[in-house]
Amino acid sequence: MAEPAALPAFMAQALERARAGDAADPLAHFRDRFHHPNMVGDTRHDEVIYLCGNSLGLQPKAAREALETELEDWARYGVEGHLHARHPWFYYHHEVEGLLAELVGARTEEVVAMNALTVNLNLMLVSFYRPTAKRYKILLEAKAFPSDQYTAEMQARFHAKAQGFDPEKAVVEIPLRDGEHHHRPEDVLAAIAEHGEELALVMIGGVNYYSGQFFDLKAITEAGHAVGAQVGFDLAHAVGNVPLELHDQGPDFAVWCSYKYLNSGPGGVSGAFVHERHANSPELPRFAGWWGNAEKTRFQMQPGFHPQSGAAGWQMSNAPVLNIAVHRAALELFREAGFARLREKSLALSGLLRECLEAIPNGGFELITPREDAQRGCQLSILTDHRGKAVFEALTAEGIIADWREPNVIRLAPVPLYNRYEDVVRFAAVMAQVLSR
Ligand SMILES: *Cc1c(COP(=O)(O)O)cnc(C)c1O
Repeated sequence: MAEPAALPAFMAQALERARAGDAADPLAHFRDRFHHPNMVGDTRHDEVIYLCGNSLGLQPKAAREALETELEDWARYGVEGHLHARHPWFYYHHEVEGLLAELVGARTEEVVAMNALTVNLNLMLVSFYRPTAKRYKILLEAKAFPSDQYTAEMQARFHAKAQGFDPEKAVVEIPLRDGEHHHRPEDVLAAIAEHGEELALVMIGGVNYYSGQFFDLKAITEAGHAVGAQVGFDLAHAVGNVPLELHDQGPDFAVWCSYKYLNSGPGGVSGAFVHERHANSPELPRFAGWWGNAEKTRFQMQPGFHPQSGAAGWQMSNAPVLNIAVHRAALELFREAGFARLREKSLALSGLLRECLEAIPNGGFELITPREDAQRGCQLSILTDHRGKAVFEALTAEGIIADWREPNVIRLAPVPLYNRYEDVVRFAAVMAQVLSR
């Protein structure tokens, strides 16, 4: 991408600051541990500004070697790789549990890498959405991700007839106030209290995919438990993006995917958290398969399901080794960089982006992500006017990969592992040019 021609004075000054920030950034070298795209659609660019880590994280260079290791061992050992591979496949999910536990603030036993996200969400609801005629509602944030809405709707319908409740009334969305695009924290807690004894499950996107709002997971969990509901979070946009302390925050379950902020590749393996308090509850209803059975007796091929304790007891199928290999390589970068440092840079990057965007005299565009650090990750969402789609397409033509969410939001996510301060200022400069056309 060429140097933007005539930079507004503010941008020129911000670009200076950004370059100084990059030069002093202790995490700057992590950028070279990733492959950076040079294509946008069918068009090659000298430099692409990638602000889409919220949708698909970039490829860590270490992914290839991690995959090749497993491909070699598969070639060398065939089925014997289950016990003899360098990372024996029989125990493969253990390869990432420590790394995941660290990242989400959980005990090792509370996490497992398995399946895909929406599958895990459904599996968790089998155990933790146990409606009765009186207590049957599921509470979601406004504009929850479609998978969450569909899961809630269909799980409610699945139970409605047997339990005798109206499935049309089961899924409740926390209302947004007129003209507001994210929730006031007190409104979330008030909604939980309002539905009280009718509430079976509070199920919130920890960071909402649309607005970028990061919710207070501990306060929500406590409020949900106080009215006797179960509490679970979809952390697709939270994991690897915002600090999590799931054990202490205390939800009953959480699920996430690995291909967004965790950079583990398209369709990458999902993760699930089940709180320790449910670790040894074999009576808890759940769907089962051989991989969730106790490892000692897994191969005895006897009837009678005896779940492993902890989250691993929710596994059904054997581990997707190739996916988890990449996942491990990607997670090791988080450990190496240290999450506290990543979060600090993340807030600074997105803070600079906000400053630059707010300096553009654009009229008609509104940042709808909460301003407070405690209520956001790195994503900023811009609510556009009727020009939105055209602006987005013009940005794309300039070599910028961001993303568009219907009906009218552009999401931008500068990621501390591989984005530079310079990226966000250059993006804003292009945005200013596009808007002035
Ligand atoms: C991305 C995302 C998903 C995707 O679900 P998959 O099962 O991985 O396809 C689900 N929920 C939320 C909140 C998401 O952001």
